[in-house]
Amino acid sequence: MTEFLFRDDAYLRSCEATVVAVEPNGVVLDRTVFYPTGGGQPGDVGTLTAADGRVVQIAEARKGATPDSVLHIVAADQPTLAVGDRVTASIDWDRRYRLMRMHTLLHLLTAAVPFPVTGGQVSDGKGRLDFDADAALDKEAIERALNAYVARAKPVAARWISEDELAARPELVKTMSVKPPTGTGRVRLLDVEGIDLQPCGGTHVRDTAEIGAVRVDKIESKGARNRRVVVSFA
Ligand SMILES: [Zn+2]
Repeated sequence: MTEFLFRDDAYLRSCEATVVAVEPNGVVLDRTVFYPTGGGQPGDVGTLTAADGRVVQIAEARKGATPDSVLHIVAADQPTLAVGDRVTASIDWDRRYRLMRMHTLLHLLTAAVPFPVTGGQVSDGKGRLDFDADAALDKEAIERALNAYVARAKPVAARWISEDELAARPELVKTMSVKPPTGTGRVRLLDVEGIDLQPCGGTHVRDTAEIGAVRVDKIESKGARNRRVVVSFA
């Protein structure tokens, strides 16, 4: 298994780690700062640097064969690593920080648009959510609400609850398409103080003010009830 350092501290840019498995397309470490693709958030890119200075470019982090492991996908034509090698794992922080800001913005968007979420995607500098909405959405009003949430500079923090507690509070689940991972007995809740509370395993900023000014680029109709809201940084 891999210790998910990014889960307790999303601001970690690098860590020391040991290679515990080498697979045809990637490397598994005993601990990592690389977030693996999932929950609508792209996996991190970055480097693994061995003690002798060899630098291995990582094209993407993905979930490994088991849910508690991360596979670091090695880019083409890189030096090879072996089980037992000590490495420094470093993510492309500028990209990750933009993803954290955008991911947190999508939490604000679920508060600004009071309809169930049917899908979504965090991208670098852009994001979108699909809503099951039977009414027209007001682009300017949503943009104003988002920027007001950002300006409130509210803390963002994760905490854990039991699966039983989540089952007793179904209103916490806003996303119809993605069920929170179950089976471990506990679920990670992401709390944007006074604005949004829902299960989420992604990486977020600590304070809504870090998101900065945002805009709603467009609202598209994808079917009779499906409204897609596309947002970016202003
Ligand atoms: Zn989240």
